[in-house]
Amino acid sequence: STGLVWFRRDLRANDHAALYRALTQCRQVHCVFVFDREILDLLPRADRRVEFIRESLVELDAALRALGQHPHAGLIVRHAIASDAVPALAQALQAQAVYANHDDEPQALQRDSLVRTRLASAGIAFHTFKDHILLERNEVLTQTGTPYSVFTPYKNAWLRKIDAFQLQSYAIERHAHRLAPRPAGECLGIPSLSALGFEATLPGPPRLPTGSSGALRLFDDFLHRIERYHDTRDFPSVKGPSYLSVHLRFGTISPRLLARSAHALAQAGNPGAATWLNELIWRDFYAQILFHHPHVVDRSFKPPYDAIQWETGAAAQALFSAWCEGRTGYPLVDAAMAQLNQTGYMHNRLRMVVASFLVKDLGLDWRWGERYFATRLNDFDLASNNGGWQWASSSGCDAQPYFRIFNPVSQSEKFDKEGRFIRRYLPQLAKLPTAALHAPWRARPLELQEAGVVLGQTYPEPVVDHESARLRTLQRYAVVKAG
Ligand code: FAD
Repeated sequence: STGLVWFRRDLRANDHAALYRALTQCRQVHCVFVFDREILDLLPRADRRVEFIRESLVELDAALRALGQHPHAGLIVRHAIASDAVPALAQALQAQAVYANHDDEPQALQRDSLVRTRLASAGIAFHTFKDHILLERNEVLTQTGTPYSVFTPYKNAWLRKIDAFQLQSYAIERHAHRLAPRPAGECLGIPSLSALGFEATLPGPPRLPTGSSGALRLFDDFLHRIERYHDTRDFPSVKGPSYLSVHLRFGTISPRLLARSAHALAQAGNPGAATWLNELIWRDFYAQILFHHPHVVDRSFKPPYDAIQWETGAAAQALFSAWCEGRTGYPLVDAAMAQLNQTGYMHNRLRMVVASFLVKDLGLDWRWGERYFATRLNDFDLASNNGGWQWASSSGCDAQPYFRIFNPVSQSEKFDKEGRFIRRYLPQLAKLPTAALHAPWRARPLELQEAGVVLGQTYPEPVVDHESARLRTLQRYAVVKAG
């Protein structure tokens, strides 16, 4: 029989559930990736993620050819509407089944259900598998069979459930001879960015490492410092985290490989690995929250929080632009936004700081920030991004209590003590003495003068006063307490 594997957020040719199942169930297997016009047409013409995907596909294509031991055994690529293209291709190949890995974002579930119906009407099966998430959907439930909404008991149940079987990798090589050559007439290679209607964005060296080889390089590098992760992860100027999020997002690395390594190290008493495994569990946690509570996409997890009145109108729009462009006058916030705008990455501590600042200092709707992150983050993932924003705005499950309001200056003094991160991203402030760097409006005139800083000209005055903003936020959130 003939099978068709549809790659989506799983751009690797190793330890891949759908590819493994197809190879073990079919005599010959074709592979397809669709640059989905329904997603791509909405993106700006320069988008790092499209470039990341394209470069990763070049590697995936080569890996499939090598595995299939045939120069034509690579990917079939379409630039089309996926829900049309996949059923059409499956029919043209006379496939009996299409294989794909679960994608539980609401729009993806809708797309897949349309694809399933279209395939069924042509007599073709659609098989989907767990791959992207370690324990998904209903795999971790409370004793009464309901989904968890508090992280710690979820994590404990997750740790009880995870085992060698769940973390085992799918051995593709043994069955790879079933990879079929591309049918005659199918183009070889991956379309160029310009053929897809996009422009190059990746900055010069150091480039964002792409593909499975890039992911493995990052992971290998991280394994040398994982032991200190719990101590280093909160400091944005330190190389503490793994930088693997974009690879987890697009599946260029197997989450099972990462969790297996972290779990084994954690069990051997490695404290950094235990903390890092915890982060991978947060990823699963938010994925199951989105799956069970899809209303979080545009509403608060906790309904009373939808009654909050956010700032609106031109003044709010101006504050929002200042936040997006890193012109708030709070150096840590502005440096963080510069990191996001320049690289597509933002350190986790800074994501919490800028999200809290948008919601609790500027009084703006968390959904505005969430959407901005969605357009800029290389690793944008609906479940984790929504979870992070609802955490910061206190509207989410197991969120930051509403009366806990980060002070952007003390966060700066604590997590960028020597100002190394700020100086890297805000060179206009680089010459300020460190004490003045965290809050330039408190600097002495001579300090400003010697550092060449003119507030309001070379660097903005603060757009809000934190103390009064804090009081306004407590009033704004009173409606929640009343509710
Ligand atoms: P590491 O510290 O090395 O962590 C390893 C992996 O664990 C990450 O790659 C990620 O997959 C997972 N992880 C870590 N922290 C979290 C978390 N809090 N929630 C869920 N998963 C986590 N993460 C995304 O992948 N995509 C997003 O769109 C996203 N948006 C966020 C928005 C806000 C407001 C906040 C506060 C957090 C967001 N995060 C998001 C979570 C976290 O900031 C990033 O996963 C992390 O910074 C990525 O860097 P890393 O790979 O070096 O992380």
